[in-house]
Parts: sequence; C-alpha cells; structure tokens
Amino acid sequence: MLTGTHIAYYHVCKRKLWLFANGIQMEHTSALVGEGKLLHQQSYAKRANRYIEIQLGNVKIDFYDPETKTIHETKKTRACQDAHLWQLKYYLYMMQQAGIMGASGILEYPLLKITKPVTLSDADINYLLHIIEQINILINQPICPPKEKKTICQKCSFFDFCWIQDE
Ligand code: SF4
Repeated sequence: MLTGTHIAYYHVCKRKLWLFANGIQMEHTSALVGEGKLLHQQSYAKRANRYIEIQLGNVKIDFYDPETKTIHETKKTRACQDAHLWQLKYYLYMMQQAGIMGASGILEYPLLKITKPVTLSDADINYLLHIIEQINILINQPICPPKEKKTICQKCSFFDFCWIQDE
C-alpha cells in the first residue's frame, strides 16, 4: 500500500519518488527535514491532547481531531503545495476506504499564517485512483527516472546524489 509520501513525491519529482520507493532514503541527513519535524512538534505542542494518531495500513495520520473529523497537516512552505494537497486528499481517501466518512482536512502553514481547507470530491478520487496506478508502474520499473532541473532540487535531500558530480 502506498503512503502519503509516495503521493507527495509523485507531485514533486518522479525520480525522488523512485529513489524513495526503492529504499534509497537520504531524508535523515537533511537539515530542512529536521526543521520541518520540529515545526510540526512545536505547532501541535499545545493542541496535542485534542488530536489522535490514526494508522490505516502503512498510512499514519499524525493529527486527527475526532470531534470535528478533521485531519491537520502542517507544512513549512508552500513550495510544493500540490504535493501537500494531494497527500492530504489521499489521507481523506484512505479514511473513506476505512469507513470513516465525512472527514475533511486543513493544510496549515504556521510560518506564513495561512490555512487551507481541503475536501475530497469524486473527481479527486478518480484522479487518486489514476495516480496510484501510475505510481505503482513507476516505482516497479527497474531504471531510475532521469534527473530534471527543478527549483526544488537545491532543497532536495537527493541533491548531492543527482547533481554534485556535475558541478
Ligand atoms: S535533486 Fe531534483 S532531480 Fe534529484 S531527486 Fe531531488 S528533485 Fe528530483
């Protein structure tokens, strides 16, 4: 079963997705990821009691408010907003699959003081089913997809792996 990270990386970079899915992970060495995790902890420190963690297969939703049926997802910047959006919609889809109907989400960017409500439509589900198929094809191909110069490369944990030998 795919995780939210697979869905997010599909929207960020196909090469990053393939590397991640094939066990090549460098996130633990990234200071940016550390900052993101710290932000997550600080943002929810005062509200943690209201939220519960949900595990749906290998999908873990860290902050779910069962009273309002709302998933809260905190991000640092809006640089990969599409990835954030579809990751959260995937969580909503997985909740539907688990029989938890009527849930919604909120994307939170505390450093920017921005929140964005997120819902799941039938069209969203069709899109998710399509990309789930595409992701499974992509991650099972034997060859890593080629690198592409993207604005996010500089902040990607695979930057050295992809580009350092060229510089
Ligand atoms: S450095 Fe760029 S090309 Fe390489 S995996 Fe990251 S986003 Fe993709």
